[in-house]
Amino acid sequence: MKRERMKKALFPVGIMLLAVAVFVMIVLDLTKEQFKQSTKSTVAMGTVVTEKLYGKKTYESVFDDIEKTITELENEISWRISGSAVDTLNKSGAVVCSDRLKNALSLCGEVYASSGGAFDVTVGKVTSLWKIDEEDAAVPDEKALKKALSFVDGGKLKINGSAATIAEGQFVDLGSVGKGLACDEIRKTLEEKDIYGAVVSVGGSVLLYGKNPTSDSWSVAVRDPRGDSSSYMGTLSLKSGVVSTSGDYERVLTVGDRKYHHILDPKTGYPADSGLISVTVVCDSGILSDALSTAAFVKGLKGGAELLESFGAEGVFIDKDKKVYVTDGLSDKFTLNGDGYELAEASE
Ligand code: ADP
Ligand code: MG
Repeated sequence: MKRERMKKALFPVGIMLLAVAVFVMIVLDLTKEQFKQSTKSTVAMGTVVTEKLYGKKTYESVFDDIEKTITELENEISWRISGSAVDTLNKSGAVVCSDRLKNALSLCGEVYASSGGAFDVTVGKVTSLWKIDEEDAAVPDEKALKKALSFVDGGKLKINGSAATIAEGQFVDLGSVGKGLACDEIRKTLEEKDIYGAVVSVGGSVLLYGKNPTSDSWSVAVRDPRGDSSSYMGTLSLKSGVVSTSGDYERVLTVGDRKYHHILDPKTGYPADSGLISVTVVCDSGILSDALSTAAFVKGLKGGAELLESFGAEGVFIDKDKKVYVTDGLSDKFTLNGDGYELAEASE
C-alpha cells in the first residue's frame, strides 16, 4: 500500500524531469541552429585575408568593415604608399603619429631592445635593396649592402610625445608587424558588432575572436614550412589570442641553387641563418605576436625562447632538421601531424 503511494508521488517528479530534459534538448538545438557561418577570402596588405564569422545572422556588411579597417591601417603604415605616415617619416625624418602608430612604434622599440637588435624596423634600407618580394629582386653587391647597413639602428628611432623621428638616411619598414597589427584592429571592429566568434587570418597572422560555436576552442593549423602552401605539420588548440608565423618559405629569391628568404639579420644584412625555418608565436596582442615571430626567427631557438618568455608569449619553433620545440604553455595545446617532423626538448 505504502509502495503504491510512493509510486504515485514519484510519478509527477518523473514527468517533470522528462519535461526539463526535453526542454534543454530543444534549447540546445535551437542555439545550434542560431549560429550561421559567413566566410570570405580576399587579398589585402599584399596577402590573402580569410574571414570566418559566426553569429545569429550572416555578416556580409562586416566583411566590408574589416576590409575598410585593413585599408585604413595600410594607408597609415605602409612605406609603399605615398603620403602614408611611415612614408612621411621616411621622407622627412619626422611625423606626427596617431596613438595607434605611436603605440606600434613604441612596441617595435621594446622588441628591438629586448632582442638585442635582431628585430629592427629601421632595417628598411636593406630590405628595399634586396626587394625580395618584388620582380626585380637581386642579391645586393657588398658595397651597397654595407652602406645600407650603416643606416640600420633601431635606437635612433625616437618617440617624443606624438612625434616620431629617425636619423638622416634611415628607412622604416613595418612589414614585420603589419599583419599582426591588422589582427588587433580587426578585433576592435568585431567588438562593435554582434558577433559570437570569428577567425580572421591576415597572411601569417591569425586572430581568434570570441567563441567557437561548435567546440570549446579554436583549431589553428601550423603550416608545414617544407610542404606546399596548403599543407600543415601541426595543430594548435586555443581559446583566444593571435597566432603569428614567420618562416623562410614565405618570400624567397632563388639564384641558381641558392635560396634567399625575406627575414634579414640586421647585423649582416643577409637572410637570418639561425638554424630555424619557422617560428609560431601565440599571445593576446597581434602586433606583439608578429614582432616576436620575426625576432625569434632571427635569434634562433635559445635566444628566441628566452625572448618569448620575457614577453609572456608562447611558441612553436621548427629547426632545419625538422625538430619541433614547443614552449611549456602550449605543450597540451599542440598536436604534431606532419610528415618527418619530430617533437624535441630544448637543451639548456
Ligand atoms: P611576413 O611578412 O611573411 O609575415 P614577417 O612577419 O616575419 O613575415 O616579416 C618579414 C618582413 O619584415 C620582411 O618582409 C621585411 O619587410 C621585414 N623585416 C625583415 N627582417 C627584419 C628584421 N630583422 N626586423 C624587423 N623587420 C624585418
Ligand atoms: Mg612578423
